[in-house]
Formats: sequence, C-alpha cells, structure tokens
Amino acid sequence: MLSYLQIVSKITSQGIYDRGVRDYLEGKLVSKKDLILDNWREYECVSKRDRYIVKIPVLHLALSPYKEDQAEKALQEVVSCTCEYYQEGYGICKHIVMACADLDNEFSIKLQQQKEKVAKKDLDSVLDGIFVAEKTRVQNEFFTELDRFLNTSSYLTLSFIDKAAKNINIKQDEYTDFFKKLEALLKSYLRSYETEKKVIKLVYQTLSYGRISWYLIWHNLFTDFIPKNQFKILISMWQVTRAGIKLEYSDLLQSFFVGLETDIKTEIFEYLKADENNFRDEKQWVEFSFYADY
Ligand SMILES: [Zn+2]
Repeated sequence: MLSYLQIVSKITSQGIYDRGVRDYLEGKLVSKKDLILDNWREYECVSKRDRYIVKIPVLHLALSPYKEDQAEKALQEVVSCTCEYYQEGYGICKHIVMACADLDNEFSIKLQQQKEKVAKKDLDSVLDGIFVAEKTRVQNEFFTELDRFLNTSSYLTLSFIDKAAKNINIKQDEYTDFFKKLEALLKSYLRSYETEKKVIKLVYQTLSYGRISWYLIWHNLFTDFIPKNQFKILISMWQVTRAGIKLEYSDLLQSFFVGLETDIKTEIFEYLKADENNFRDEKQWVEFSFYADY
C-alpha cells in the first residue's frame, strides 16, 4: 500500500518535510474529519497563533491501483492548505506533510520508523538542519529574483522583496552573511546611471521594513552612488521617517541627516518646499529643518 509520507517527501523540500513530521509528532495536528465527498479528509493544524485547514484525498482509496505510480502527481493536483506558504504558491507545506503523517499513522505505515529516526537525532541538530535549509531556500529565492530584477529590461514589481525578505527581516541577526553578500552585489551595480536607477527602486522598499540591517546597506553604499542618485536616496530616507513605521535606525538616520553638508540640506529643503506646491505633503520642509538641524 501507499505511504503518504513517502509520496509527499518526493514533492517537498527536506526542510518542510522534517518540520512537518516533527510538528506532527509534537501533536500540532489537532483534528480531522471526513468530508461529504467520499474519500476526502479535512485536517486541522495549529501553530502559536493560527490554525490551518488541509484538504486531502485518502489516496489509497481514491486512486485506482494501476495509477499508483502517479500518486505524487495526483496529490499535488488536488491537495490544499489555507496557510500563507501554500496560498502564496510555494507548494506543499508542512501542514500537508502533517496530514500525510497522520494518514500513514492511521493506516499504520512507516510512522514507527519515522518516530525512531527523529528521536535518534539530537533535537537541536534537527532544528538546525531545518533552519539552515529554510534559510538557504529563502536566500536563494531572494537572490534569484533580485538577479532577474537587475538584469532584465522588463518592468517587474518589487513584490519579491516582501515575499522573500519576510524571514530575513524577522531574523536579521541570523542573516549577517546574507547582508554582506547583498551589499557586495549591489555595489557591483553602482556607478552607472542606468543600473543605479534600478537599485534606487529598492531603497524605499527595503527601508520601509524599519530594520537596521537594511538601513546599513544603503548607508554604507551611499557614496558609491552618483550624486544625482545620492539625492534620490536622501529623499527616500526622509520619506521613510514620515511613513509612520517604527525605525530601528532612527537615531542613526537623524545624525546622518544632521551631518550632511549645508548645500545638500538646502537642496533637500528646496525640493520638499516645491513638493508642497504639488499639495503632496504639507509642512514637511519645516519638519525637515528641525530634523536635520538646518
Ligand atoms: Zn499549510
């Protein structure tokens, strides 16, 4: 008979698989029921704050025996989960792995082996392995999208930053190497107006996370940009102070502005004043004067 864990292991990453099995063993799958449709199940999984619903066919009953070699494809075609990971199109999530573990358990396949396997490993090393795999996945995805953004002429949205940077943003301390690599990569794109234009698009987007690691990148690269673009970065930096986001780097940013040459402050001041004439943001030039000690 089919092993659900074996099937699902072929269509998901090792990290997701390990995490699903572990969460299942930790009892995070809390309920199940049959759906009205024959041979369909619904599973409920919990995390700290949310609960997710997996809908999955009881494959070994729903699939003709002569199609068993297509079990992965069949599962992938119809299974679903309400979690963000699945909904955003990353594919099979850990909740689906949990449902598969439960199906194997119910139909008593392989789970005993899995339990032993997990118990044998030191739990920390399992967790480390899971984290490293996830970290690598997130980083690779980010750099792939960034590369595509910087090297193609088609107009792409920056949603990849929000999507892939979510984890990076939460665990910024764990991503020191990531930020080093990113800074070096971005540096190689500077000093040409056209390519810098693309990099500039990333400035506000990343600063608006409010995290210090992103700020330091632009702060460190600032003088590598051509002067015209330096000005654009200053405007982005100023705008982010007004976006109502809590900025970890607010003190650093303010002393950066205070330390600017007077003629640069004048340029920003005039720009903001002209901006007000377009009715975009009243009085920001006044606030800027106080903020930058102008
Ligand atoms: Zn899920």
